[in-house]
Amino acid sequence: MKYCTKCGSGNEDQAMFCANCGQAFEQPAAEQPVVEQPVVEQPVEAPAYTEAQPAAVVNDPNAKNPATLWMILNIVLTVLCCCSNVAAIVGIVFGAIGMSSFNKGNLEDAEAKTKIAKIMFFVGLGLGVLSFIISLATGLMSSLPEIINNLI
Ligand SMILES: [Zn+2]
Repeated sequence: MKYCTKCGSGNEDQAMFCANCGQAFEQPAAEQPVVEQPVVEQPVEAPAYTEAQPAAVVNDPNAKNPATLWMILNIVLTVLCCCSNVAAIVGIVFGAIGMSSFNKGNLEDAEAKTKIAKIMFFVGLGLGVLSFIISLATGLMSSLPEIINNLI
């Protein structure tokens, strides 16, 4: 039901003219050509946002220093290998530099040094495991004649 704007009488929704006074009704909105709103491109402010983010991380006293973990892991590895693991020792150095860079707010450098410390840890781990296997094999080889003698 719609109401005539002129006389106020009720009419069918589909009526084009008022049944009472003949006043023409406006066409339903759906039949009117849809005027497309021009898409207003929003100014890109993303770079300013991403630039502001790292600063907030540095200012946060609870922010975790990613280099710390890898420095500690390299220290553990160095101790386990009785300070004979060169890669782990290099990893400690880079971990320390990474921690220092992070504290200075130089995140890019901290990230790069952390990456090296991480690589050094895995290289050192590989070296450690390898030397362990070699020493195990060497020990087995040297005691092999004894074992064979005992069997015979
Ligand atoms: Zn009317």
